[in-house]
Amino acid sequence: MVREKLPEIMMPERNPDCPKCNAKMEPGFLPDSTYGGIVAPTWVVGSPTKNWLGVVTMKGKTLYPVATYRCQKCGYLESYAAIQDTAPGN
Ligand SMILES: [Zn+2]
Repeated sequence: MVREKLPEIMMPERNPDCPKCNAKMEPGFLPDSTYGGIVAPTWVVGSPTKNWLGVVTMKGKTLYPVATYRCQKCGYLESYAAIQDTAPGN
């Protein structure tokens, strides 16, 4: 049995400054709700492809776990899809 591997969220080396007001930004993420729970968000290269059942498949796609920073002053959100991982076949 092949267990589905979820990418780890990797934060950039240092917290970015807010592009709007230059205040400090704090790391976090925008969770994706799925059947049975919440997973870390991912950004996928290319357009979605569907299998013969019409279900979107991630097979062969390159995944980038997404980290989102929030400005502590103005609330601006900025997302980074920084570190690459590869989807398991399914
Ligand atoms: Zn700001």
